[in-house]
Amino acid sequence: MAQLKPGSVAVPEIPVEERVELPASETAVIVVDMQNDFVKPEGRLFVPTAPQTIEPIRKLLEKARKAGVKVFYTQDTHYEGDPEFKIWGEHARYGTWGWEIVEELKPVEGRDIVVRKTRYDGFYGTPMDDLLRVYGIRNTVIVGTVANICVLHTAGSAALRWYKVYVPMDGISALNDFDYYAALRQISFLYKGVVVRSVDGIEFK
Ligand code: ZN
Repeated sequence: MAQLKPGSVAVPEIPVEERVELPASETAVIVVDMQNDFVKPEGRLFVPTAPQTIEPIRKLLEKARKAGVKVFYTQDTHYEGDPEFKIWGEHARYGTWGWEIVEELKPVEGRDIVVRKTRYDGFYGTPMDDLLRVYGIRNTVIVGTVANICVLHTAGSAALRWYKVYVPMDGISALNDFDYYAALRQISFLYKGVVVRSVDGIEFK
């Protein structure tokens, strides 16, 4: 098969906010797929820049929990024979070490909500939308991996349901720069999401 290989393409300008203040009671943090298979070098689908997002996400979660902000996690979950294994190889298989959310970002039992998903989109076939509505959420701060895959699809799905999307640049990771910036471009340009420079610029009031 021939490969399409264009030369360098320029990243269009992406507006970046330095600081946003979000109402704690109407905001949820969604941590996408921060599971061993994606975040740890021994994982089956390791994203090389994912480890450096652990600390920013940890800081964001600390702020969120202190302010009483709802925290959701998506957990990619597959079983034997899942068609996604044909695309990516086996990963995030239910019950394995790789499927587990990384130790550093473990959900708080009885507080945080873990939504298991079978595809890229955290809303597809899950109770995510229902849960966000129940809690009166209007804003979502989305972090995690992979930027142009599960983060983008979850952000897009949130935006299509008219949730406002905020994405801190130091909270997402991709397999390469093109994918990283392509995700930010789509979130900003297409879904009217807000790209924030860093988790440090996100406050809950
Ligand atoms: Zn998967």
